[in-house]
Amino acid sequence: MDLNRYELVIFDADGTLRECTVEGQFYPLAQGEWVLKGDVCNVLSEYDWTSKKFGIATNQPGISRGEFTEEVSLQLLNDMVIGVFGFLPDKEAIQFCPHAIDGECECRKPAGGMLKRIIAHFGVEPASTVFVGDRLKDKIAAESASCDFIWVHDLANVSFKS
Ligand SMILES: [Mg+2]
Ligand SMILES: [Zn+2]
Repeated sequence: MDLNRYELVIFDADGTLRECTVEGQFYPLAQGEWVLKGDVCNVLSEYDWTSKKFGIATNQPGISRGEFTEEVSLQLLNDMVIGVFGFLPDKEAIQFCPHAIDGECECRKPAGGMLKRIIAHFGVEPASTVFVGDRLKDKIAAESASCDFIWVHDLANVSFKS
């Protein structure tokens, strides 16, 4: 699969672009609790992201659990995006679900709401969009939003070169 045929590339965060460094914790809650996934970043660094649309779609249930604030969650995500891409996209391109795992919302993956919002923001076709993730719920979300899906572990085999 060649990513160059996509206008828009959306990424999951945890387990895809970053990893939590706190044992037994699934996602970072503060600065110093995460690292970028080096192998993925190496592949992505080969591409000129100033000429490509990209976004983030991540569940952040720690917000509803009171583990951290929405502001801190977004700051950590922004720091991650800067680390990977070197700059921030439009704020609408960074979507996070702050809702409870047992709650009802249209954004928490496996729902496709966040992907649909990013696709609508950029005004691209779902067929010109791919979502990169590490969990089955990411794949299902991509199907719900009618876009393609790539497992992050397959990313190293994908050419990003234009
Ligand atoms: Mg993930
Ligand atoms: Zn939600």
